Amino acid sequence: MSDIAAGVISSRGDTPPATPIATPPVFVWPPRPVALAKFLFGYPGYFLPLNVLYMGLAILTWFAFTPALSRMAAFHWDWIAIIYGRNLALTVLVFGGLHYRFYIQKAQGTRYMLNRREPTVSHRRFLFGNQVRENVFWTAISGVGIWTAYEVVTLWAFANGTIPMLNWEAHPVYFVLLFCAIPIIRDAHFYLIHRLLHYPFLYKRYHSLHHKNTDIGPWSGMSMHPVEHVIYFSGILLHWVLLSHPLHAIFHIQTTGLAPAIGHVGFHKLLTKRDNVYSIGQRYFHFLHHRYFECNYGGDGTVPLDKWFGSFHDGTPESHDTMRLRRSRVHGV
Ligand SMILES: [Zn+2]
Ligand SMILES: [Zn+2]
Repeated sequence: MSDIAAGVISSRGDTPPATPIATPPVFVWPPRPVALAKFLFGYPGYFLPLNVLYMGLAILTWFAFTPALSRMAAFHWDWIAIIYGRNLALTVLVFGGLHYRFYIQKAQGTRYMLNRREPTVSHRRFLFGNQVRENVFWTAISGVGIWTAYEVVTLWAFANGTIPMLNWEAHPVYFVLLFCAIPIIRDAHFYLIHRLLHYPFLYKRYHSLHHKNTDIGPWSGMSMHPVEHVIYFSGILLHWVLLSHPLHAIFHIQTTGLAPAIGHVGFHKLLTKRDNVYSIGQRYFHFLHHRYFECNYGGDGTVPLDKWFGSFHDGTPESHDTMRLRRSRVHGV
């Protein structure tokens, strides 16, 4: 049975996502050097298109939209407001921009849509009776607030020498390698904290809020309970123990804040007016997590922890059957 016939994804999309979902050939044995080089430098691949955009944005943010370190050595509302303001502005631009294009302007209609329904449902289980309004609320108030708090304290610690700062000129190779590895670090961290959030105690109290979104949209991405935001953004604490530079920390936390927008876009391809089709990464992977809950805990799967720990749903009918069987055993449905 196909994904469409199985009712997993929209029946209106013209081309379903390719399955089985491929895992990147990074952590594989025996090594596959040619496939690895193709993944790293090809399109779509590790850098292109999304990570290059996030990297460029982080560099721009550090040089043009971050106060001088000397100014951040003491907590003052003027520079903290700049950090909060630019984080909020980026959030509105990226989350709002994607929502506008796909769900208000409906620029490509339902073509390459994964959802069966649009995520603008009105229901009393959502705050203000509306899914998107609830998502915007948790994102702007709690999400951007906690992201900014982590970033402010980390930049303050760099400014005061509480965290040792990596010198770009002394260690250029390490600097670049660490910068390039941050998406991999984020992926592994996300799997671990996400797996933790699915333990019943944390799931019922906190993570279930994010899973109210079964038909996802960009604003679903950061719609989380404040406790989950504290756990979700904790990856930046790595820079307190690992020799790095504020640019690494900014890239790390900024991508953690912005990547969920495209991660929950609800479409698996970008279609232009001239009918050109572009990859927007492996969007089916996390979509299936919102369908089945107990699979695909990782981010983009660069570190294939789901595969190693038996929770990988590769989008094939066999995986659907396994998930249904597992759910019927757990929930008796
Ligand atoms: Zn999600
Ligand atoms: Zn989850």
